[in-house]
Amino acid sequence: MPLLRVEGFVLKAQPLGDADKIVTFLTREEGKIRGVAKAARRSRRRFGSSLEPWSRVALTLFEKEAADLARVDACDLLESAYRLHENLETGCLLAYLAEVADLFAREKQAEPHYYRLLGSLLAALRGGLTRSVVLRYFEVWTLRLHGLLPDLDLCGSCGASLIRGTVVLEVSSGEVFCPRCRGGAGVSRVTLREAGRGALAEILCRPPTELGGGRIAASALAEVGRLTSAALTAFAETEFRSARFLVSAEGAVS
Ligand SMILES: [Zn+2]
Repeated sequence: MPLLRVEGFVLKAQPLGDADKIVTFLTREEGKIRGVAKAARRSRRRFGSSLEPWSRVALTLFEKEAADLARVDACDLLESAYRLHENLETGCLLAYLAEVADLFAREKQAEPHYYRLLGSLLAALRGGLTRSVVLRYFEVWTLRLHGLLPDLDLCGSCGASLIRGTVVLEVSSGEVFCPRCRGGAGVSRVTLREAGRGALAEILCRPPTELGGGRIAASALAEVGRLTSAALTAFAETEFRSARFLVSAEGAVS
């Protein structure tokens, strides 16, 4: 019966009966793990505030063979996200980040780059980076790290080089076209113009902390957002529940 000691973020905690909680963790060493925190609902003494979303915790888990859920033996708070949640818009953004990360993270499969991305975005939020930059950075890299961000270099129809200028992305298939070809009829397309492509390139080649101070124009960021939202929704095959609360987060910063 193996004991597992790992570090992770709390993505969500749901009630289980009167006393317990089911907690979803994104761990550095083992990817996504779900566990039962016994008596976490009845008493806060054992787990304190460590089970709040985006707490970074040191975990001791007990895994039973063939069981779906681990048992959370200890969950010690390393870094709280409490101060971030004090701001309503930031709280909405964190809820969205958790919902998307929960969908993309793989169970029992470490993704060190994704784990580091989330840690660096939380640090950037604490450092005051604009929420809309954090949001798009997260979306772009979630797509990139899961192989869902297409190369924008060549038109998939005529083969024209698309290193500069406008590209048209066919979201459902991930195909890229020049404005003349535009892809097939009756399908979902997103256009990315020069400014949007520039913003995407900045996000792909710089750490988030270098993107503050209005380095990326709000309109360019919004263009990237149309692409990422469409691509994420196409992958999830549904709208993210928490996405509708993001409007206020974006509105407050653009
Ligand atoms: Zn073309």
